[in-house]
Amino acid sequence: MGALSKLACIDLEGVLVPELWPAIAVRTGIRELFATTREIPDYDALMRQRIALLREHGITLSDVQRILATVEPFAGAVAFLQALEARGYRVNIISDCFHELADPLLQALGEPTTWCHRLTADSHGFVSGCDYYPRRGKEEPVDKALAEGQRVLAVGDAFNDINMLRRATQGFLVNPSISTLDAAPDLRAVESLEEILELI
Ligand SMILES: [Mg+2]
Repeated sequence: MGALSKLACIDLEGVLVPELWPAIAVRTGIRELFATTREIPDYDALMRQRIALLREHGITLSDVQRILATVEPFAGAVAFLQALEARGYRVNIISDCFHELADPLLQALGEPTTWCHRLTADSHGFVSGCDYYPRRGKEEPVDKALAEGQRVLAVGDAFNDINMLRRATQGFLVNPSISTLDAAPDLRAVESLEEILELI
C-alpha cells in the first residue's frame, strides 16, 4: 500500500495546544470554568454549565475568542505534525473542542483535517449551545481507517482518548494525569511528542 495507508489521529488540547477552558477561567476569573470532565463526567452537562457561566458573567463568544487569541500551540507541535506527514501519515485532529474556539490554533498548526464540534451563538453574541459532530466517540475514525486496512497511530492525553488509543495500531498517552495513567496502565505513556517519533 502507498503513502495514504497511514493515518494519525491526534487529540488537540493537552497534546498540541494548552487546555482552552482553564485559559478562559484564568482570564475571566470565573473559578467554576476550571471544572473538567473529572468533576462533571457528562461532557454535554459540563458544556451547558460553561455556557450558563459565560452568559451569567456577560461574556460573549467574541470575548472568549479574544482571550484565546493569546494562546499558542505547544513548542514542537507544528514540527511533530510535519514529521508525521513526512513519514507518510495523513493527520486527523480528533477533538472534543469547538471550531469557534480552536480555529486560530488549527490554522497555526497548518490547518490539518479536523473532527471537532461547533458552538452556536444567539443574536446577542452569547454562546447558546453545542452542535456536536456526529460520531459515537473518538474511536470511530480509528475503527473506520482500520477497517480500510490502514495503519493507525493515535495520540491523546486524557480519559476520552483511551478507547481511541486502545483501538489504534499504536497508541500513546502524552503527559497524562495520574488518574488517566491509572485507568490505562496498558497504554504507552510518553513525556514528549518527540519521543513518539522515535517509537513509530
Ligand atoms: Mg486532550
